[in-house]
Amino acid sequence: MKKNFNSVLKGGKLSIALQILNLFRNAKIIGILLFFTSIFYSDRVSGQQICGFDEYIHPLMQQNPQYFEEMELQLQQAMEQLNRQGSQTPITIPVIFHIMHTGVNSTTNIDYSRIQTAIVSLNADFANSNIQFCLAIRDPQGNPVPNIAAGDIAGEIGVKRVNGSQSGYTGSMTLGGSNEPIIKGLSYFGNFSYLNVWVVGDILTGGAGTTAGFAYFPNTSPSNLDGITMDKDFLGYGNWHVLSHEAGHFLNLYHTFEGDCPPGADCNANNCSATICPLNVDCENQGDRICDTRPHKRSCGNCLPNGQNACDNNSSNALFVHNHMDYSTEICRNTFTDNQNTKMMAALMTFRPGLSTSLGCVQACNPILSLSLLNLQQVHCKLDKM
Ligand SMILES: [Zn+2]
Repeated sequence: MKKNFNSVLKGGKLSIALQILNLFRNAKIIGILLFFTSIFYSDRVSGQQICGFDEYIHPLMQQNPQYFEEMELQLQQAMEQLNRQGSQTPITIPVIFHIMHTGVNSTTNIDYSRIQTAIVSLNADFANSNIQFCLAIRDPQGNPVPNIAAGDIAGEIGVKRVNGSQSGYTGSMTLGGSNEPIIKGLSYFGNFSYLNVWVVGDILTGGAGTTAGFAYFPNTSPSNLDGITMDKDFLGYGNWHVLSHEAGHFLNLYHTFEGDCPPGADCNANNCSATICPLNVDCENQGDRICDTRPHKRSCGNCLPNGQNACDNNSSNALFVHNHMDYSTEICRNTFTDNQNTKMMAALMTFRPGLSTSLGCVQACNPILSLSLLNLQQVHCKLDKM
């Protein structure tokens, strides 16, 4: 994975965002990073809820378009294979939530009920796919989750709680900033076998608006940063679907409005300033690279049931406002298309194969029971580590 990341970064002049990504590996340049962090913070205004995905992916795409074309080619081939075989083997992805807090009684230390609600909502949103998610009950070393001996709270399956305040964490994480690897380094399960979800108090990015979450495409970040980051305020409420949106990115889905923003413009700004209709002549390689979603400009926090889509011969807005990968309102989003579902499965097969064979949701061994010769399954279980 590191090799792939390097290949993304190689080339000529690096953009600012690329330089920041490169600096993940050089913690000594703290002064520069603090400088960037302060810029991001001062630029941030409240308003339109956004996702941080475009902030990191667009510079990478500009820097190395060939890498992304090759990624699409591999995905298309896997999709064709899936379509030929006609059926898909269901896959359940083990998820570990890292609740990064600043004190046991702080608002960043969210209730476990929010995690339970989040995983139920996530699975409901993926109900029409062959992908589901489970709360991890075993860590990479083969210990149970929760691990009471390690300080976890009884009953909190799939959760690690970490007080990061002694490591300089004040409740916020900057996408691509110096504190992202520090915070994530405090609690991390190997990305080959787990989907890591870090829950933080606040996410800072270079764009305007409130960043609800962000996720990395496979093989486009250092492996120890790979996963989903969520602002705690957008996780674990009944009709909220930000986690599903980020899971879409984690499995190679672009925004359905990909390509609607002029180069250099900040289309996440409050006025939602997208002005270009995404190209869609070659639907496998333009726009969101999905052929059963129509080209459109981003919805700006609305859920218009009717109206016109100037990017698609004035068809109804309803064609896209319900898609999880749009920017319509939370209550509006409820759909992944067939091609999106197939592409996410293709991403699992091609770039995240370890998730389908992970033992993360297989009961960890009870060390006392494992001593029993009568319980060979338990003995076997004890030996399994990831
Ligand atoms: Zn997004």
